[in-house]
Amino acid sequence: MTGSSSTAATMSKPAASKPSDMPPAPENRSTAVGRIERLKLYTRCVKIDRNSLMCQEMPQIRSVNGADPDQLIRRSEKALRLRYGTPDLGNKRELIAEIVFIILSARTRSTGYIDAYRRLRRQFRTWASVRDAKPAKLAKVLKPAGLSRIKTRQIQGSLRKLALDFGSLSSRKLRILDDRALEAYLTTLPGLGLKSARCVMLYSADRDVFPVDTHCLRLFCKLGLLQERPRMECAQDALQNLVPRRIRRSLHINAVAHGQQTCIATRPRCADCPIEDVCREKNC
Ligand code: SF4
Repeated sequence: MTGSSSTAATMSKPAASKPSDMPPAPENRSTAVGRIERLKLYTRCVKIDRNSLMCQEMPQIRSVNGADPDQLIRRSEKALRLRYGTPDLGNKRELIAEIVFIILSARTRSTGYIDAYRRLRRQFRTWASVRDAKPAKLAKVLKPAGLSRIKTRQIQGSLRKLALDFGSLSSRKLRILDDRALEAYLTTLPGLGLKSARCVMLYSADRDVFPVDTHCLRLFCKLGLLQERPRMECAQDALQNLVPRRIRRSLHINAVAHGQQTCIATRPRCADCPIEDVCREKNC
């Protein structure tokens, strides 16, 4: 990913459950296991809240001229992978670093947020020092990423919450959560919607998820699989479920590369397109 502004766009977030809504915590509160158990219970509460905001506009998936959507997706994934080679888009292997990187990448050009991330790592040696920095100083460092005051609030808020929930700014305890718990927890962090949470899971936790950004959405439109362009948040689960787990990572990364290099929104280079034979050239 996401090196694109679109990939990084965030979704509106549900309100987290109030403590009074939470189920009782297990007794061994002081142990790491106890903390993880409480976290699982907490994320289940949040998940219930998020599901209560059911999307009213589920995308209509259709088959083009009788084409099998599964075959179309597999064929496209292979063609895109052979062309772009699943490139490194600058994402981070360390989970907390990726959370920060994804927040920085929202609604800006890749040169801006990559520069801001480099400045951040040069100026602050630890995540604790980022968390505790004066907001004005941090915002100045993050300026190349744009929206720096908002991103400062989101990054410091996320780091504070992680430290509070896990007892330290280490990603070790996050990594042991299963997919549902990890996704639900990540979407409680300021600045991370469902798509961004799945980006973190894909890039730094090796989970088989398919974050749907603007490039992925455009690809599905071009393949003729969507009747009309849905809202990003309404497309996440429906399109992820269409993509076989084994090719989710490759399809996401190569769709981003395709959108950045060839199927550019304003001037697609159709003459040089690896999936021109299956493209419906739908204007969406
Ligand atoms: S043929 Fe053109 S519009 Fe279709 S996917 Fe390729 S670049 Fe995009």
